[in-house]
Amino acid sequence: MGVIEAGIAVVHGRVVEGFRAPFREDAYYDVVLVPGFSDGHAHPQVIDGGLRRGVRWRDSYEWIRGRDMVVDEVMVRRDLSVASKLSYLTLVRALLEGTTLLALTGRLAANVRAWLKLPIRPRIVLLPTVMDRVGWTLGEVLSDYNRVSMLVGDGFARMGVFIHSLGMAGATTVREALDLARRGDGIVGLHLGEGLSELEAFKTLMGEPPYPAKIVPVHCIDDDVTRVGLQCVACPTTNIILYGRTRRSLAGVASFGSDWPLLLGTTPRHLGLIRRVFREPVEVIARMATVDGYRLYEMPYDGDMVAFDGSLDKVLDGSVNPKLVVVNNQVAVYEGALVESQMTLGDVEKEIEEAIRETLDKYGDGRKPLMPPKPGELEV
Ligand SMILES: [Zn+2]
Repeated sequence: MGVIEAGIAVVHGRVVEGFRAPFREDAYYDVVLVPGFSDGHAHPQVIDGGLRRGVRWRDSYEWIRGRDMVVDEVMVRRDLSVASKLSYLTLVRALLEGTTLLALTGRLAANVRAWLKLPIRPRIVLLPTVMDRVGWTLGEVLSDYNRVSMLVGDGFARMGVFIHSLGMAGATTVREALDLARRGDGIVGLHLGEGLSELEAFKTLMGEPPYPAKIVPVHCIDDDVTRVGLQCVACPTTNIILYGRTRRSLAGVASFGSDWPLLLGTTPRHLGLIRRVFREPVEVIARMATVDGYRLYEMPYDGDMVAFDGSLDKVLDGSVNPKLVVVNNQVAVYEGALVESQMTLGDVEKEIEEAIRETLDKYGDGRKPLMPPKPGELEV
């Protein structure tokens, strides 16, 4: 047994100097995070944002109606092999970026298949998307849900449901999703207040807290969800890409999400932008980007750790990649490469480009999608 040391560390959200902990060998790094980054909202099958050059939308409903999709999303989700490949690439990218917990929406069976393929896995919260549309109904999700819930429950994965939004799911779907989550001690996620206030609609449907299941709203650009007893996952990058604006305060925000990890990277890639938008002390951002995401989803973080060479400032603007990533005391990334395959982040990014091309060949309409700018290139 050796000792891992670091000059500076973020331990359970606190910045400390002179970090030491038992490790399988003696090692020294500049910065250690305990636990690693959390990505509180990720669509692992999104390869096209439906963007139109020069167009911004007012809210998510206007975007869904007006977006210009080059790829057939329903077909991508339905093709288990394609959908799980995209999930797999999301998960390995996450590990190589130092993200040790992700909340995944999208196709449940694909996400689980990808996750099980990994010998050392990030922790995940499985929130299959449901809405009142063919291919996405709760009934269609249920058989996968029941099968998968037998597999999880070991502290590495949690289950729940992601109600797409109040505008895309009726009262019955919302009630049934809450009930499903309640029975399995699961979580209910939903897009809320993405460009417009939905607090009153939320109150009408959900009533007053306490709710029958844990609810995690996402985006909340225009809503302070503490008014309904909740805490939000903010995704400022896609807010700015789609609507040209995001929320400006962290009131009611617990943590952050990447929204489109294959196109934009996982949470650490967004931290530079997050710091420019919110202008909070680094300690606050460090805590929210790591342990607060775990706490929001009530996930354990024993034995999760990420180590870097570089300054804390660089780590928290996403400009250095981790050398070491550990989940539950097991090493997933060593010397910046995945232990199982020796793939580096550069290799995975190339594979992602390739997978996007292949998926477009199969389910695209022949055009190229308009790719979003990187978080670092966006004006806030
Ligand atoms: Zn989303």
